[in-house]
Amino acid sequence: MNLLEKLESGKRLSYEDGVALWELDLFTLGKYANKKRKALYQNKAFFNINRHINPTNICKDICKFCAFSANRKNPNPYTMTHEEILKILDESITHNITEVHIVSAHNQDAGLDWYMGIFRKIKERFPALHVKALTAAEINFLATQYNMSYEQIIEMMIKSGVDSLPGGGAEIFDEKVREYICKGKVSSKQWMEIHDIWHKHGKKSNATMLFGHVEKREHRVDHMIRLRDQQDKSGGFNAFIPLVYQRGNNYLHVEDFLSSVEILKTYAISRLMLDNIPHIKAYWATSTINLALIAQEFGADDLDGTIEKESIQSAAGAKSSGGLQLQTFLDLIQTSGFAPVQRDSLYNEIKTY
Ligand code: SF4
Repeated sequence: MNLLEKLESGKRLSYEDGVALWELDLFTLGKYANKKRKALYQNKAFFNINRHINPTNICKDICKFCAFSANRKNPNPYTMTHEEILKILDESITHNITEVHIVSAHNQDAGLDWYMGIFRKIKERFPALHVKALTAAEINFLATQYNMSYEQIIEMMIKSGVDSLPGGGAEIFDEKVREYICKGKVSSKQWMEIHDIWHKHGKKSNATMLFGHVEKREHRVDHMIRLRDQQDKSGGFNAFIPLVYQRGNNYLHVEDFLSSVEILKTYAISRLMLDNIPHIKAYWATSTINLALIAQEFGADDLDGTIEKESIQSAAGAKSSGGLQLQTFLDLIQTSGFAPVQRDSLYNEIKTY
């Protein structure tokens, strides 16, 4: 069976097929990715109303691509108090957010109770708010820092009110590329192990892939296959989120920004390769909102959310620092020919516009 016949039949694609997909033209890829997306979700475009909070940027790690950490190229170190975080949410809750998304740097001075206290206090004040928090990289940092097992940290998180895990820290799983771009951070194997444990608790998580830096297309396919294998085992990934590398203000010094065609191909190939991860998210904070809207026709069914405030990608040049107003977001989705569906963090549908 050749590649096009495999695509027609919907048969699972191998690593070699994944690499060969890049040779197809964008519109052929788009045709098959869109067919899969439409079969699952018709013209629904999922989003949620959420608030991102990045409580500290003081980090012991030295990822080359990072523009957020105060130990890299960001001259403004900060660590928020719990009261400051709650104050932000007092305001955001009036915008009907259903989720708070909390990821931070690896701050050795903050203390384990500072991390867990954030979640505890949020749940005390806002019991219905979904807390999506701590990447596998942060869990690995906390386990190492406080000489605890992943299982112990995860149990503390659940007790403190964390509902689901964001997909960050995955970067690129290939060990050589990883060593070059983020040496010392959670390894690919550890990242997978942490999500495996989380899923065994009956909980959901997401998975990201940082692309467009020094990796090759083969590394992206390898990344997807590793996630697909894990999903076959533990089944807890809700969404795959390809993150476009932002080249500003960091130590990787990548000159060329990916073309829109390459970015759209990456979304389409994600949809085709990841036959067991339900949602492909075009995270507009890294792709730009315009390209995210187009990505809806290339396999993506989710546009993340209104975000409200974003510090990590915008530190590296993304135009996402202020989020998007809900009405603007809805108008953009509708004029691009899709039906906005507000979802909760676990993809239950709340409202169709
Ligand atoms: S990407 Fe995260 S872990 Fe790496 S340096 Fe930046 S804040 Fe630290």
